[in-house]
Amino acid sequence: MKLSEFRFEIKTKLTVATLIPLMVAIFFCYLAGIFILNAKVAGQAQEKVRNDLNVAREAYQNELSRIYDVIRFTSQFGSTAAAIDAGDRAAIEQFLAPVRLREHLDVMVAVDGYGRVIYRANNPAVYGDLKNTDQYVTRPLKGETVYGTTVIPAAMLAREGADLVRQARVAVRETPQALPSSEAEREDGLFLMVGVPVRDRLGAIVGAIYGGVLLNNNNALVDKIKGIVYETDKNQGKSFGSATIFLGDVRVATNVADNSGARAIGTKMSADVYKKVILTDAKWVGRAFVVNDWYLTAYQPIHSLQGVPIGALYVGMKENQYSSVKTDITLLLSIVVILSALIGVGVSSILGGRLAQPVKSLALLARRLAAGEREVHSDIASRDEIGDLAGNFNEMSQALREREDRIIELNRNLEQKVAERTSELEENNRLLIQTREELLRVEKLAAIGELAAGVAHEINNPMAIIRGNTELLQLSLPEDDPNREEVETIFAQVKRVERIVSNLLIFARRERRELGTVRLNALLHEIVGQIGYQVPLEGIEIVENYDADAAQVGGDSHQLSQVFTNLVVNAIQAMPKGGVLTVETARGKNGGGFVVRVCDTGEGIPPENLSQIFNPFFTTKRSGTGLGLSVTYGIVKEHGGSIEVENLSQGGCCFCVSLPE
Ligand code: ADP
Repeated sequence: MKLSEFRFEIKTKLTVATLIPLMVAIFFCYLAGIFILNAKVAGQAQEKVRNDLNVAREAYQNELSRIYDVIRFTSQFGSTAAAIDAGDRAAIEQFLAPVRLREHLDVMVAVDGYGRVIYRANNPAVYGDLKNTDQYVTRPLKGETVYGTTVIPAAMLAREGADLVRQARVAVRETPQALPSSEAEREDGLFLMVGVPVRDRLGAIVGAIYGGVLLNNNNALVDKIKGIVYETDKNQGKSFGSATIFLGDVRVATNVADNSGARAIGTKMSADVYKKVILTDAKWVGRAFVVNDWYLTAYQPIHSLQGVPIGALYVGMKENQYSSVKTDITLLLSIVVILSALIGVGVSSILGGRLAQPVKSLALLARRLAAGEREVHSDIASRDEIGDLAGNFNEMSQALREREDRIIELNRNLEQKVAERTSELEENNRLLIQTREELLRVEKLAAIGELAAGVAHEINNPMAIIRGNTELLQLSLPEDDPNREEVETIFAQVKRVERIVSNLLIFARRERRELGTVRLNALLHEIVGQIGYQVPLEGIEIVENYDADAAQVGGDSHQLSQVFTNLVVNAIQAMPKGGVLTVETARGKNGGGFVVRVCDTGEGIPPENLSQIFNPFFTTKRSGTGLGLSVTYGIVKEHGGSIEVENLSQGGCCFCVSLPE
């Protein structure tokens, strides 16, 4: 799986993003800290060891000063000059021997003005030898006080004291990193030596006293140095510093321990140190291999009076002592670094979590918004990019809400419009069907009219002859003729046929329209007044209800009279058992034209017949022609009007004729 396929939480990313620079910084701080510590510790260690060497040199010089004080003090005793001048060995012994013992001097010798030994406090048996080549004698005899370090060869050492030969003897041991030894033993002795002149009361030099301390196997001095230098450097109660006095490159006095824990006397300084300190006569401050381990060291050459390096003074401490300090400090630093890193992880994790929290809550709100929730609002008010994001989110949520409201509103309007358009369409459809029906009817009427006109025309002439002849027959028959009744019946039927023919001719619109002004109310009143001549009005109540404004319309008064007569006759015929005939006029609905209503209280028209009553020859009456309403329809249409019928809820029906003005 690739890294990019993993899903990391924003909190983790933020934590990592803050931690990486922190960790890098901590890592580099750690490295820098270790580097600085190392350099500092090493530098300080070096500095310390250099200072230690100075202190050691002071201690060494102090010892020399002590010897100087002792010798000088002895040389200035009141009786010293006289005793030396007189060569009085007993007198000399009296003040030399106790001083030597008290002051722990290995050598204390009085010589006369020629350099001849008068008395050796450490070896009284040997005297009389001439020391005129020894600078610690020759130079005091010239009035100079001399002090320093010197090497006394084995042969001469025996003369200075039998025990000194033994004390001076040092078995040279092969030492790692040191030059191979050319000799198995060092028998010569390294001395701190002082030579002072002895003057009589007049200041004339009568002799000299020289004395000193053998440093070979003399551990008191090195221990004293160690005590002074490392007094404060205690490590768990145990001093870890060391001091050494070298004769040449051999340790003749030391407190450095060898592998067995004994003093490493006889071991040698490393070849590197030897080359620098003894051969080139320079100081050594730094790391050096000492006996069996690495030490931080400082070496200083010890010179003879001629300025030749004859040995060295050393102080140092085991490197691992400082290494352990370094390790402790490194450990402490590491703990500090780890703790800071852990605190860093904790803090950045908390901060990361806090920063990620608003993003998470926004994501949750976005999910709720996506799920269709409407009132989604973020309360994050932080003044940063996340606060901006939350603000943008709220604006987006608000905009979505408004858009949704607009869409719902539009939808509602659309539905309303569709409903309106549908009803308009239905109305148009209805009108279309009605128009088509009317067209069909008109076409049918036209065809029937054509036929009827032809038939009527053909029948008219024979009927005129029949009528003329029937009238003649009627006139020629006497009043009491028994056949007169049949002749009258023929005459009545001829009249009926003529009426039918007349109706057919009207129906076929063969008659010419005579246009004029028709006063509706007057016309209707006249028709109602004379209707009794056409149909019996038994049990019929007539109600006339005219609108005064329904004054007049343009049209053919004869044809319109036929229209209203047909309607009134039909209404009366619909009420065979009596009822109320209502004739009314009114202004048109929208103030245009006039409306005439003819209503009855009869049976009404069965619904299945409603669509047929205007068809020619449709009749439900035994002696009906079925032409009345179709003629009425045709006339009204020709006048630009319309005719409608409706059944009344209380029984009966109303015919409603609308005419334009
Ligand atoms: P006719 O009167 O000769 O039957 P019409 O064309 O005048 O012919 O009428 C057709 C039919 O319409 C009538 O037969 C009748 O059934 C019906 N009708 C007309 N007027 C009315 C009315 N006022 N009440 C009931 N039915 C009517």
